Amino acid sequence: MTLQVQPKLIVHGGAGSSLHGKGGLEAVRNSLTKIIEEVYSLLVRGATASEAVVRGCQLLEDDPRFNAGTGSVLQSDGQIRMSASLMDGSLGRFSGVINVSRVKNPIEMALFLQNSPDRVLSDYGSAELARELQLPTYNALTDLRLKEWMQEREENFHKSMAGVVAEPELAESSHAGRGTIGVVALDGYGQLAAGTSTGGKGFERIGRVSDSAMPAGNYATKYAGVSCTGIGEDIIDECLAPKIVIRVTDGMSLKESMLRSFTEASKNGRDFGAIALDATGAISYGKTSEVLLAAYHNGDTIGDTLEWNDGELIGYC
Ligand code: ASP
Repeated sequence: MTLQVQPKLIVHGGAGSSLHGKGGLEAVRNSLTKIIEEVYSLLVRGATASEAVVRGCQLLEDDPRFNAGTGSVLQSDGQIRMSASLMDGSLGRFSGVINVSRVKNPIEMALFLQNSPDRVLSDYGSAELARELQLPTYNALTDLRLKEWMQEREENFHKSMAGVVAEPELAESSHAGRGTIGVVALDGYGQLAAGTSTGGKGFERIGRVSDSAMPAGNYATKYAGVSCTGIGEDIIDECLAPKIVIRVTDGMSLKESMLRSFTEASKNGRDFGAIALDATGAISYGKTSEVLLAAYHNGDTIGDTLEWNDGELIGYC
């Protein structure tokens, strides 16, 4: 299998307010770097963009630090409901599950639905599909997320969202933040894919639908791919991922498209972040929130955005 282009990879583990301690930062950096290394080596060995994205999402879902799969935040009623989507840019095909419970890796269900005539399932349909696929029942709850929820209940759910990542200090802090995971890959054949998975905002109303399983939060074509994180309602209102991708499709550079989209978002007072790749191999990330937990492989080196704080709305390489 000969690779025709240099693979590129970018992943995120959420956006929001600052990590609380240096320990948190180093632990997140180690997690993201290990995942980048494993997934990038798959791309170098000939994996397709979709395969790489699914593997990256599985690894991030399995890391209890991030708000997706194991370690998902609890909703207002104390239950975990997860959402995930996959978009294969070369096929131009979106699939996803919304508010699924008791499965380990929602992204695997999104992958299954890529080849189904019905490609986005809500809670009831997702539960039926999990049963049909005989997925083992799995409890994604961690002690830290339970503690966070109990504390919030005592304080009558005054926060708008749960913590960006699960950190021991988090349950003691009053900071609000968010977390979700996403992966965008360009494979050695020039194909793009994007995947996003989340436990939601945390403490939300039952039945609230996250942007993560909508094109607004996860979108890819032959030209570009984007995964978003942050306040889902803000991402939906900006229609963020398709907006960035379509600008590139219509001829704008990825850098210009990201800059224009994030400038608009900032004027509109939005609170989110996004990661992006285009078919030429350009990598970009943007945020209107305080932090974006992203890491990337540009073919030569691994970089990350954990300490990115120069006041710019976007970064590019
Ligand atoms: N965008 C997700 C949601 O609103 C949350 C996040 O990214 O942390 O469901």
